[in-house]
Amino acid sequence: MALLIDGKELAAKVKAQVARQVEEMTDRPGLAVIIVGDNPASRVYVNGKKRDCGECGIYSEEYALPEQTTQHELLELIGELNGRPDIDGILVQLPLPAQLDEKQVLLAISPEKDVDGFHPMNVGRLMTGEPGFRPCTPAGVMRMLDEYGIEPEGRHCVVLGRSNIVGKPQALMLLERNATVTVCHSRTPDLAAQCRRADILVSAVGKVGLVKADMVKEGAVVIDVAMNRNEAGKLCGDVDFEPVAAKAAYITPVPGGVGPMTRAMLMVNTLQAARQHGKS
Ligand code: NAP
Repeated sequence: MALLIDGKELAAKVKAQVARQVEEMTDRPGLAVIIVGDNPASRVYVNGKKRDCGECGIYSEEYALPEQTTQHELLELIGELNGRPDIDGILVQLPLPAQLDEKQVLLAISPEKDVDGFHPMNVGRLMTGEPGFRPCTPAGVMRMLDEYGIEPEGRHCVVLGRSNIVGKPQALMLLERNATVTVCHSRTPDLAAQCRRADILVSAVGKVGLVKADMVKEGAVVIDVAMNRNEAGKLCGDVDFEPVAAKAAYITPVPGGVGPMTRAMLMVNTLQAARQHGKS
């Protein structure tokens, strides 16, 4: 039976570490969170982020903009926040309403305040192995592996999904740690055969029951990034949890796995931004 990787407990530990460091600073870090429209899921995420800031002693500001906000208005706000020394991180909650150009918006955030790690400058830094902000979800996965003493070097890692926010940066971060990485997506033939080769399997697809026990190698590490709703409306991942847990060496639950770690890593990135801005 697999050992459960407790993301909730680990996230609490990471946030407590951030809180201790912030407590010792005379100039505390600041995060601005922008939400456009009234997407209920986005509202839940933003509330969570504000709560995390409170727990860590990080100053936070929320900008809740109306659904009809124009590109010009949003870019103007970002420009203003880019210039404010009390704000170290700027986060625009995605998705944005259809009239807004997401690429241009992410490009407008100063790379030095891009705590989500989505600006092309930070994507390039990850690609070339230079220090920069790493996207929170894959960074949270790496932290989980580290905390549980799971070494990616020399292991075969299979990443399911190739999105810009999870799959691709996850693959690069594993590669950075000397893993051999296979990236799978919707056009990958025989997904099961690819998965069975994985020492570490990271699933970030968004399909209930995608990863079945016969797709997982005995003793593998299984990380479930997905956040889906099953037929009963219950939060679940991509992995068929019970049967896979019976075969794997380590497994993350959903909820209580990668989700809380994603939030904790945003606090880590905000602290890093503040330090880079000379706050101590
Ligand atoms: P996304 O942009 O929709 O990407 C999904 C990826 O899965 C795509 O690359 C897609 O391939 C691939 N895919 C779709 N069907 C597949 C199949 N049958 N076999 C193999 N690959 C398949 O999603 P995302 O934003 O990366 O998020 C993925 C999941 O993670 C979602 O459930 C999301 O809610 C969750 N998530 C969780 C957190 C967290 O904090 N825990 C954070 C972010 C996302 P193509 O590229 O070929 O279309």
